[in-house]
Amino acid sequence: MDQPATRKRFLSCARYLFAVLSILSLFSCTVVPDSGRQQFNFYSSPEKQARLAQMGFDEFNKLKQSKKLSSHSAYKEQVRRVGKRLSHVMPVPNAQWEFIVFDDPEPNAFAFPGGKVGVNSGLFQITKTDAGLATVIGHEVAHVVASHAGERMTGNIATAIAGAAAYGIIASNTDMSTGQRAATAGALGGVGTLNSLRFSRGQELEADRLGALYMARTGYDPREAVNLWIRFANFKLSKGSGRKPEFLSTHPLDSTRINALERFLPRALAEYQRP
Ligand SMILES: [Zn+2]
Repeated sequence: MDQPATRKRFLSCARYLFAVLSILSLFSCTVVPDSGRQQFNFYSSPEKQARLAQMGFDEFNKLKQSKKLSSHSAYKEQVRRVGKRLSHVMPVPNAQWEFIVFDDPEPNAFAFPGGKVGVNSGLFQITKTDAGLATVIGHEVAHVVASHAGERMTGNIATAIAGAAAYGIIASNTDMSTGQRAATAGALGGVGTLNSLRFSRGQELEADRLGALYMARTGYDPREAVNLWIRFANFKLSKGSGRKPEFLSTHPLDSTRINALERFLPRALAEYQRP
């Protein structure tokens, strides 16, 4: 094969891919509400947000048809009460708020774009109080407010483009042996994976901080968020759930998240409106 020609082709391809990425980033830089963090997100335009909300409505409707709804009136009333209060301060684009309790023992909750929130009946043994429930709902909705899913998808696309460009440069480098090229490509892949895990953990901590702010703004004591995550950590320990080292996990260690939230409390408490 004509090596200089191949190398030239790969380099021009790499330059083209980097140029595409740079232009996309110019139009995709946005600021996370209440966090102030700059975010690279291809899905931040009002049109894309509206489309994501529509997808959230559709997915939530499907879930309501396929998953058993809870008939526990106290749980349903608590979720309606807490959700309604929080919905006044959570800046979700195109929100059509709905808070549903599913009959599922797994202690979990989730929020879709467009303000659709599901809480499993198994969560109430841990949340216990309105403030505990507000912590979890605030955290889940904060992922939507901060467009974390869109940011992750953007990161995957950007990583694929940058990876293709890097691969082009490595493959066209005639000074490297085949073994060196394979090792470099492998190392780049490993760095990409670790970065994306660290990125997910950062999103979790950001959702904790935003959730504490929403609690404070609606009269729930944000210090209760710390107590909720301690209860969650104890619950997991009681179930003997195995833990991965933090650097291999998409979630921060419980101690990391509790310490981070405690450090953030002064800011949340400054906005705390006692009911
Ligand atoms: Zn989360």
